[in-house]
Amino acid sequence: MIYLDNAATTKVDEKAIENLIKFNSELYFNNSAIYGVASELNNNVNVVRKKILDFTKASPQSKLIFTSGATESNNLAIIGTKVNKDLIYLFGEGEHPSVYNVAKELELRGKSVKFIPLSENGEVNYAVLEDMLNEKIGFVSVMHVSNETGAINDIEKIGNLIKLKSPNAIFHVDAVQSFCKIPLNLSECNIDLCTISGHKIYAPKGIGALIKNNRVSLKSIVFGGGQEFGFRSGTENIAQIMALNSVIKVNEIEHIQSLKKCFLLNLQPIMHSIKINGNGSPYILSISISGIRGETLVHMLEKKGIIISTGSACSSSKIGNRVLASIGRNKEEILGSVRISFGKFNTLSEVEIAAKTFMEELGKLLALNKRKN
Ligand code: PMP
Repeated sequence: MIYLDNAATTKVDEKAIENLIKFNSELYFNNSAIYGVASELNNNVNVVRKKILDFTKASPQSKLIFTSGATESNNLAIIGTKVNKDLIYLFGEGEHPSVYNVAKELELRGKSVKFIPLSENGEVNYAVLEDMLNEKIGFVSVMHVSNETGAINDIEKIGNLIKLKSPNAIFHVDAVQSFCKIPLNLSECNIDLCTISGHKIYAPKGIGALIKNNRVSLKSIVFGGGQEFGFRSGTENIAQIMALNSVIKVNEIEHIQSLKKCFLLNLQPIMHSIKINGNGSPYILSISISGIRGETLVHMLEKKGIIISTGSACSSSKIGNRVLASIGRNKEEILGSVRISFGKFNTLSEVEIAAKTFMEELGKLLALNKRKN
């Protein structure tokens, strides 16, 4: 099998699996207990906390809260942050459902919520954002890299605009698709809250974190034993935290760039008739092809042992696609969109085979459709 759906989830790294086994079979203690072996685990967890805070260049008094993943982190960040009731929330139109649907929920709860439109290249529209920012804005959430199009938002630019025009606003960034992939300096970008997740970077599913700085007044959204500084009750999942620890590093972007380049090179003959979505994270290639159903192509490729996805795994079961529509793709282009996403375990020869097979299967599909019409 050639797996090219790494934006949805990744194969777990062996080092992470070793830690999962070790901390479930030998060092499985509850780190809140008072005996020595347990409190030693606490030290381990705090070392990991510090490592991620340093890695992301979080400001000195920041705190890292371990969660079950990015969905929980995003919910905690948005619902848990205290925002003056008269202030407005701003969200990128292309946010992941774990942000977008929380925004919709806030609307239902009577909050004032606005969405920042996207430009054709998939980034938020900075000029419109600048116009939207003023002293009435209390919270802004914009993702670093889009899980659907791979578009990279200029977070530093946004952070500076917010600081200038909405100095009291809290700035939240969903960095799930960029963490350990594309550098993000939390301090320099004026980020107050940042969401990360393990399973996009070769850790298991079910571990993530929220980083908060000391500008944020946060309240827990689940109540219990008061773990994680009182922000996230529940016995800490040490094995998952240690598994995450083993994969935190800057991954080799050059290898990923060469994989995407190889795929694109094979697409050359049809480049004039397709649309590339987004301004280009090397990890994600999103294409819209009019006249086909992306879903059909995904199934045809699966039969050949190649795994890719339609638009985004999270929204593949839904009709239409909010993100592609907001960058101007029409219904036909949305139906005909697929996402190919690369990871560190992919080899160049694999991608070469996948791209050639992609072209063959697409050719068959287009020929079939032509005959039907
Ligand atoms: N945000 C983004 C940008 C994502 O890509 C995802 C996963 N598709 C999430 C949030 C949710 O992550 P998790 O599965 O860890 O809850």
